[in-house]
Amino acid sequence: MLYERGGIMNEYISDWIKVILNCGFDNTYKMAWAKSIMECVIEDRSDGEELVIDFDSIAEKALKHYWNQTIYFDLIQGSNLKKPPEMITYTKKLISDYRKATGSTQPMRIEKIDFRKHGIQRNYNETVKEIHKTLKKDVSWRFLNYESEKMELYSLNRKEGWIAIEKTHAELLRTYQETLYPIINYRWTQMLESFNFAPRISKKVRAIDEDKVRRSPLTKYRQYLDLMNGENGRLCFYCGKEISDREISIDHVIPWTYMFSDDLWNLVYCHKGENSRKSNRLPTESDIEDLEIRNQRLIEKMSEAGKTKSKNYDQLQLAIEKDYVRQFWISFKG
Ligand SMILES: [Zn+2]
Repeated sequence: MLYERGGIMNEYISDWIKVILNCGFDNTYKMAWAKSIMECVIEDRSDGEELVIDFDSIAEKALKHYWNQTIYFDLIQGSNLKKPPEMITYTKKLISDYRKATGSTQPMRIEKIDFRKHGIQRNYNETVKEIHKTLKKDVSWRFLNYESEKMELYSLNRKEGWIAIEKTHAELLRTYQETLYPIINYRWTQMLESFNFAPRISKKVRAIDEDKVRRSPLTKYRQYLDLMNGENGRLCFYCGKEISDREISIDHVIPWTYMFSDDLWNLVYCHKGENSRKSNRLPTESDIEDLEIRNQRLIEKMSEAGKTKSKNYDQLQLAIEKDYVRQFWISFKG
């Protein structure tokens, strides 16, 4: 464990750690609560004897985390797959309001959105209010329960909707943030891995945290996909017709937001309009069969062309051996 100068780690911090590591796996509320409180403490610059944090501030941070994890990767935040946690239902409602107001299906971090400009500031405020209610009702007091004890991490006023942290404790939280953040993230990710079947959960969470969710250009895959060109040039994977240079696009058959990875075995040429990102296409069983056949032919073509000394060749071979196309498709459709 961690040691402070001259002794065991501070008891207040170790109480936080105990609570975080002992949370049940019903949903991720307590992690959102802990992380949001930490952020409020770190941003606070006030100078009183205690730091008072109102539930609206915590709710705004929780909404930020849930929005970003949902709009990019639609991560499942609770163990009951039929009934998502209500904070996620509120978050999804706001995402849908945002999409209607802007007409955009492109994911966007909440920090970058001007809700007033889009005419949905009221919807945002309502969402914060709903999350505030859930925090008050379910999370704020339950968080303090540890085995049969009640931890004194903060004083709580549920009626007025705030918590207060002593100044010395707030300073400890700031001092130990490098310890506490990773523990919260670790626990949150563990929960997500137990609820979600999607691959690369921890990579997704980290990318969202660090604002590094990027799509890389796929042009480097053209040299392989072009090996499949017939007499008619490049053919669309979905409709089978020729694609002109202006209409060409490379598509992830199993969506990128699910895989969070570019893999040759999952990439095909198609007409721009048929791109899964735009139409939210779910691959059908016949798409999956076609992709399996395509991969067989592609690896033959790569062998003929002498392109066997690349990571892409090895990965494609592995994907065929391990039946990735079908395995990931089955897990994706749930
Ligand atoms: Zn097409």
